[in-house]
Amino acid sequence: MNDRTQADSTPRKLTIAIDGPAGAGKSTIASRLARKLGYVNLESGAMYRALALKAIDRDASFDDEDALVKLAENSRIQLEPTFGGNRTLLDGKDVSSRIRERDVTEAASRISIHPKVREWMVARQREMGAGGGVVMEGRDIGTQVFPHADLKIFLDADPVVREQRRMEQQKIKGDVAASVAAELRERDRRDRTRTASPLVAASDAVVINSTALSEDEVLAKVEELVREKS
Ligand code: C5P
Repeated sequence: MNDRTQADSTPRKLTIAIDGPAGAGKSTIASRLARKLGYVNLESGAMYRALALKAIDRDASFDDEDALVKLAENSRIQLEPTFGGNRTLLDGKDVSSRIRERDVTEAASRISIHPKVREWMVARQREMGAGGGVVMEGRDIGTQVFPHADLKIFLDADPVVREQRRMEQQKIKGDVAASVAAELRERDRRDRTRTASPLVAASDAVVINSTALSEDEVLAKVEELVREKS
């Protein structure tokens, strides 16, 4: 006789953190995994990007930490998971495409070095993921946002491969490619060397190096890890 209660047999809704540098494949893996599990996929980088866009629109200095926090407090940044991917709303306006542009990408990297900006973001991100059943990706999810996440993945890849993937993704060729690659390297350096929550694998994260792996192979590895935790 099966004496398990309904609650016992309901699969546990895990909190899954995926961190790593740009171009390692976090977004694709996070969104495919979330879809498979029926979880919410939250892209924390989109929140930094949305605040960066607001700073650009308001002509705020990327170096003025207090002004940026005030701007954040007076903003409504929403991540809306949809079947076609995440939508990012800033003060009710869909900015999903705009925040992927080069100026916003650069600004997001610069505003994210400020500890008080990060504190504000981390608090919002914890609220958003509080119920579990979430795959959140970023740079500090396993170390700061959800230090007790059920599963932490640190997805990495060789820098040259990451640059190539980013160029293919954004269909960038020729002269522009060299400067975009240099910008990506600089953002990486900034993420890894900043004092506040630098990009680093949590001590209990599973590191996956995707340099020689296909997207499907990475996803299969992650799914296996999820099964072990469920
Ligand atoms: O992930 P994405 O490239 O969209 O993030 C944009 C920028 O936001 C990154 O370059 C990084 O500096 C910052 N970021 C962060 N912490 C996160 C997510 C993003 O510092 N959790």
